[in-house]
Amino acid sequence: MTSKWDLSFLYQGINDPEIDEDLNQAKEIADELNKYRGKLKNGELSAQELLELFQQTEKVQTLVSKGEGYGFLLFVQETTNEDHKAIYAKMQQQEVEIQNKLIWITLELNDLQEKLVEKYLKNPLLSNYHHFIEVQRLQKPYLLSEPVEQVLLQKSLVGNEAWLKFYQEYTAAFQYEVEIEGKIKTLSPGEIYPLIRDPNPDTREKVFKTYYQKYAENSIAISHCFNNIWKNHGQNVDLRKYPTTMTPAHIRNQTDEKIVQTMMRIIKNNYSLVQDYYKLKAQLMGQGEKIKGSDLYAPLGKVIKYTWNEAKQMVLDAYKEFDSEIGDIIDGFFQRNLVDSEVRKTKRTGAFCVGIAPDFDPVIHMSYDGTADGISTLAHELGHGLHDLFSGRKQTLFNFHPPLVAAETASVFGQQILIEKLLKIMKDEEAKLKLLASQLEDAIATISRQTMYVFFERECHEKGAKENLSAKQMSDIWDKHVKDAYGDAVDFLPEQSWNWATIPHFLDPRVFYCYAYSFGMLFVLGLYQKYREEGQIFIPKYKRILEAGGSQFPIDLAASVGLDLTKPDFWQAGFDYLRKLLEDFRRIVEERT
Ligand SMILES: [Zn+2]
Repeated sequence: MTSKWDLSFLYQGINDPEIDEDLNQAKEIADELNKYRGKLKNGELSAQELLELFQQTEKVQTLVSKGEGYGFLLFVQETTNEDHKAIYAKMQQQEVEIQNKLIWITLELNDLQEKLVEKYLKNPLLSNYHHFIEVQRLQKPYLLSEPVEQVLLQKSLVGNEAWLKFYQEYTAAFQYEVEIEGKIKTLSPGEIYPLIRDPNPDTREKVFKTYYQKYAENSIAISHCFNNIWKNHGQNVDLRKYPTTMTPAHIRNQTDEKIVQTMMRIIKNNYSLVQDYYKLKAQLMGQGEKIKGSDLYAPLGKVIKYTWNEAKQMVLDAYKEFDSEIGDIIDGFFQRNLVDSEVRKTKRTGAFCVGIAPDFDPVIHMSYDGTADGISTLAHELGHGLHDLFSGRKQTLFNFHPPLVAAETASVFGQQILIEKLLKIMKDEEAKLKLLASQLEDAIATISRQTMYVFFERECHEKGAKENLSAKQMSDIWDKHVKDAYGDAVDFLPEQSWNWATIPHFLDPRVFYCYAYSFGMLFVLGLYQKYREEGQIFIPKYKRILEAGGSQFPIDLAASVGLDLTKPDFWQAGFDYLRKLLEDFRRIVEERT
């Protein structure tokens, strides 16, 4: 038994007349706002008028996001359903058309003289929009003229966004033929991928080879997607004169080059954690000093499966023990059918939470596979949902979503709560070892590996902007960065050099998407440490961080609980905590081998 969504809180189906009513209303409001056009940039709007402009803009964006979100949710449920594809495409088109009507607001805000900005920032009527105004202005040095911005937005639908969509549809249709325990099976991406954690080493090796080989066989299409993304971003960097290829990510994440470079340097300095962990895993698996590449995600000990109801209960109990109010909120996700956990052939792979706007319930998309990792994913995604609900209490749409680097705050924190509870209730040493391993592997995947992705991505953007990169060149760049991270601890299969081709994040219009994971997790380990030190008194502070949503810069959020993101020590603290876990793991391994 797994659960499916009830999306009726959005619309009653693809023929619901409210869809067009909402879109028409959004267009009408957007057109009415033209009365302020030309006045904003000259500072001719009163604070009251500017407030109305912001509030009405949020209303328009809520309406279009509702339609676009609905189309997206239908599409990911069943990616081959033509009706769902059509409604999603229509909604995206409508969203672009309506957003285009509002582009002038950002441009005029950026044209405002500093003196006038100061005047608005001082006005208490506009206090809800201070952060929004400041964030908008981060883009200022890089914005182009209005007609150029409009053309770029239109062209993005047939540019980078089209390449990502093509890649997603193309690879979602891949069928994998794998021999598993003597029988040939035909599997979808959602069915084959979890088998990298299969208990049978022979199956894991076949799955790895088959999975990556499929991308190698399709290298022409795949390389085209990646090269167009490198070029597209290169053009953006040139057109907008970004000082570094990562600047747009820093603006989006509301961080800066210095903080991120410090974090990446500390992560690289701690690649030894990755190597030490995998050497211990090799020892545990009787492989000597080096672990086989197809065994990176090998389960340790026997696989324990949990029913969906057991998974739900464990996650619920962990959240309830942490805090009863939070436990009740988590329970609401199940009561209101906001989690789609069923495994289906045409469903989009992966797990995510979609919080459309403060007015609507967030929903969770995942394919629950019955493993402990699946439970951890549930705790993680529910954390995102929790963050959205807390943020929705205090914030309006402009301040609703935290920047990516703070977006993992509740998700990773929730995972820690679950794991701590499990470590406490477990008596069995093997079960503990398994849990410590999964905790460490998760941290390595989220912190070290994602930063390794960023090193790969940065090099590809720098080189790929100037010349076409062959699949072989991209594989070579990949192998180099893999070697940095894993050293001599892993013996990779030749097919694993194609790993880069399987990672859709590199094609996301949000370039350098992955550093947010590393940043987010180290940031949370810092917060979690605080909670361990302070206990209950930390919980109201934690709730305040969640309620702040996207209304503050990450550096200020951290400062509000006494942490300093500019210090290398802050980032190192997360690793010190992980080192402690590794030493616990080492003790159990050494007792057993
Ligand atoms: Zn997440």
